[in-house]
Amino acid sequence: MIAGHFGFAASVKARESAVPLWALMLATVFLDVLFVPLFLSGIETAAPAEGMAPGYGHLVIHADYTHSLVGAVLLSALFGWAGAMLWTRRAGVVLALVVFSHWVLDLIVHRMDMPILPGDWGNLPRLGLGLWQWPWIAAAIEALLVVVGAWLYWRAAAGLPGTSQSRARVVGLLVLLGGAATLALDFTGVLG
Ligand SMILES: [Zn+2]
Repeated sequence: MIAGHFGFAASVKARESAVPLWALMLATVFLDVLFVPLFLSGIETAAPAEGMAPGYGHLVIHADYTHSLVGAVLLSALFGWAGAMLWTRRAGVVLALVVFSHWVLDLIVHRMDMPILPGDWGNLPRLGLGLWQWPWIAAAIEALLVVVGAWLYWRAAAGLPGTSQSRARVVGLLVLLGGAATLALDFTGVLG
């Protein structure tokens, strides 16, 4: 899931206009951003789920640090702390919650591959509701997150004066198109 996270961030921006959109967008995929270097260095891994053809949601992802429950809480707190330093305390809380929303949305789609403790310490049960087993349903939910996010963002832009309104509307449109493109790439298997 990538597009759905961005869609959710756009919904948050519609309510929390004081927090910069780029910070919300970064927050929403922060766990995946950290996953990339760990994946490239072989610390976190991903492999096709048994019997699944390559394509949308076909992976079992062992992101045992970035996507562990406790790891996600710590990373959310860290991001929120940086946000509070840069902007306001409220912005920090919002950003921390948005970082953690990634873990919650991933929990819905991942196949029981998300550990509780970093590094799967203690071999506790792994979590994940596995909606990726039904790719069309998971993708439909992602599409809904994108459409609702873009729509809320677009609607919130109506309250802005003149040029900021048109600028915000362009961004809202980009969220919609970017989300649709990301979902399409994801669904055709280009993104892994
Ligand atoms: Zn993720």
